[in-house]
Amino acid sequence: MTNDWETIIGLEVHAQLSTESKIFCGCSTRFGDEPNANTCPTCLGLPGALPVLNWRAVELGARAALALGLHINERSIFARKNYFYPDLPKGYQISQYDQPFSTNGTLEIMTADRDEAGHAHEWKPMTIQITRLHLEEDAGKNVHEGLPDVDRFSYIDLNRAGTPLAEIVTEPDFRSSWQAYDYVNHVRRALQWVGASDADMEKGNLRCEANVSVRRKGDTKFGTKVELKNLNSVRFMQKAIEFEVERHIKTLESGGQLVQETLLWDERLNETRPMRSKEEAHDYRYFPEPDLPPLIVTNQFVEEVRASLPELPGPRAKRFAEQYGLSYADASQLTGDRALADYYESAVEASGSNARATANWIRSELLRELENAGLSAGKSPIPAMKLGALVRMIDDGKISGKQGKDVLVEMFATGKSAAVIVEEKGLIQVSDTGEIDRVIDEVIAANPNQLEAYRGGKEALFGFFVGQVMKASKGKANPKVVMSA
Ligand code: ADP
Ligand code: ZN
Ligand code: MG
Repeated sequence: MTNDWETIIGLEVHAQLSTESKIFCGCSTRFGDEPNANTCPTCLGLPGALPVLNWRAVELGARAALALGLHINERSIFARKNYFYPDLPKGYQISQYDQPFSTNGTLEIMTADRDEAGHAHEWKPMTIQITRLHLEEDAGKNVHEGLPDVDRFSYIDLNRAGTPLAEIVTEPDFRSSWQAYDYVNHVRRALQWVGASDADMEKGNLRCEANVSVRRKGDTKFGTKVELKNLNSVRFMQKAIEFEVERHIKTLESGGQLVQETLLWDERLNETRPMRSKEEAHDYRYFPEPDLPPLIVTNQFVEEVRASLPELPGPRAKRFAEQYGLSYADASQLTGDRALADYYESAVEASGSNARATANWIRSELLRELENAGLSAGKSPIPAMKLGALVRMIDDGKISGKQGKDVLVEMFATGKSAAVIVEEKGLIQVSDTGEIDRVIDEVIAANPNQLEAYRGGKEALFGFFVGQVMKASKGKANPKVVMSA
């Protein structure tokens, strides 16, 4: 029975830090250049070339660490992690081992169970322990062309070799695939938010690996874990975890045994396949990097970085919920990226503090237009001030909500302000009760049967009459005035 089992997951995230140059040499980190254009003796691993630490990588690593609630260690050590692979010309990766850059993170995330369709239900806070965030260099890339065993060629591109990474490792704290999913999304947004990483999984500058095991409920010992790689999106990670949990339970219930191994997710077949049995740490023969001094960061440096951080997404979503009276789901959507959160707050101000209506107009109308146009909030053709002014016009009863939707679409297409469009189209809503009374009289005269039914107690017909009046006035009548007439 699935219910007798508990799922245990620990995550490792690799995020490329957004430096202009590599971590131990001056080569560019630009994406998409000619293969091997951005290389030098250091990142090619030529004998005698020495690494020099890029301080910008330390700054961005510190921003990432603080955004995730980690403690930055005053002294950390770079270490060589030895293994052979064609895209690793030195024969070792410079990483950190027993004295990492930062440790002991406590991070609150929001998480929710999902139904069959993947819809989130009740969002609840959950605390995750982050074991460490350390700095390291990336390897190059092997590029394969042609069919295996027919005309297969493999190429090596070392442009990525030496790109700075932050590796972020959690304790085995997750108990479901969706918690893991919510965590990775949280990390991704936090890193983008503080400018530490583009954290774009499609470009490969955020990669995650999931360690998964199951145990019988009540057991205190962990079961055998597998490590999942090649997870090209957060959703694939979630699916791969579900697949493994099921496989583990099936295997154990039928009396089988699991092996500790590394598996790859095949996104076409929706299943995992073995990659290799996992090395133990001693296989890497870690030792301190003799060509780099210990990395020392002062308390003053850490405090300067902390002071330079913007309000973080978690606290900002909480503040939005409290200050603006939004649900957590709405607040969380509006803090999906920093530009959107800024946009919302400027628009609220311009709307005359109409926080809820502004949230609704952004969530239901503006975000749809942005999505259709493939734009982010930072690139919205409607500036926040103009959106706020539109919300205000609707709130003041100058135009109806229905007209507002058309005006918003027009604003989006032309960049004009709401006031100009309303003027040009003669959309001003009629609040003049004399004029509305006249329309009401017409509507009543045209619908004697309904009027009789209404007088006879069929109150639901009230809505019918309001609708008829709106129609007769071509949507220009202010519904509030109609209702009260
Ligand atoms: P390894 O030596 O195999 O790299 P670590 O102890 O360094 O293992 O842990 C690597 C990751 O695996 C961490 O994120 C950790 O939380 C997670 N982890 C460790 N044991 C388990 C387990 N039994 N089930 C699930 N995840 C685990
Ligand atoms: Zn280089
Ligand atoms: Mg490990």
